[in-house]
Amino acid sequence: MRKLIAGNWKMNGLRADGIALARALVERVRGEQAGGDLVLCPPATLLMAIAEVIRGSPIGLGGQDCHSEAKGAHTGDISAAMLRDAGCHYVILGHSERRGDHHESDALIRAKMTAALAAGLVPILCIGETAEERDRGEALTVVARQLAGSLPGAVGKVPLVIAYEPVWAIGTGRTPTTADVAAVHAHIRRALAGKVADAAATPILYGGSVKPGNAGELLSVVNVDGALVGGASLVANDFWAIAKAAPS
Ligand code: PEP
Repeated sequence: MRKLIAGNWKMNGLRADGIALARALVERVRGEQAGGDLVLCPPATLLMAIAEVIRGSPIGLGGQDCHSEAKGAHTGDISAAMLRDAGCHYVILGHSERRGDHHESDALIRAKMTAALAAGLVPILCIGETAEERDRGEALTVVARQLAGSLPGAVGKVPLVIAYEPVWAIGTGRTPTTADVAAVHAHIRRALAGKVADAAATPILYGGSVKPGNAGELLSVVNVDGALVGGASLVANDFWAIAKAAPS
């Protein structure tokens, strides 16, 4: 399967920065072949502007979160249909920063997954253990539990992306060994069987301190179908270098 390289800009970038970053990437994809498909997940305020910049290019657009309800009295929230309307094809759900900062439970993430799928979005479901859980030898149990708790019951044939993001690797410069990444991704692949229509075809991304220097190695691990990139996605040269490092 072709690798998926998604950039999570988080709460970074004003209009001029975001547009310049997206423009630089559009220029790169026009001029050269990347090893994977690019997706940009800017802050909600930039979605429509970035949609304009990437129009006609192969770069996809994603939101960083959505509400579990289709509409209504939810001040400050954004529905899945609004993301679609702004030009999104993807939405990141269950990111550890949302699980932490906003106390999001697996049950809430599951409701958001249902809402995203109903609106025709492809959810990028983030799961991953904390440092304490890894130290206790619970990494595999935790990701399986999060997967079971956040996947809607009947996912059927809808497209879906999983991102394995060990919480301790996010923004820290630390990464698991390739053997540890392989073990968790294989476990996720097995856990997906019976929960989704086609477990083998469901992309499983790795996320957590992916940089140009380690992308080639991480993206070559069996069952790693792409990367979810935070910090390095804010620098066009770095994000592009990661996309170039993906074995096609
Ligand atoms: C992320 O937050 O999804 C992430 C992977 O961040 P970073 O690449 O900065 O570790």
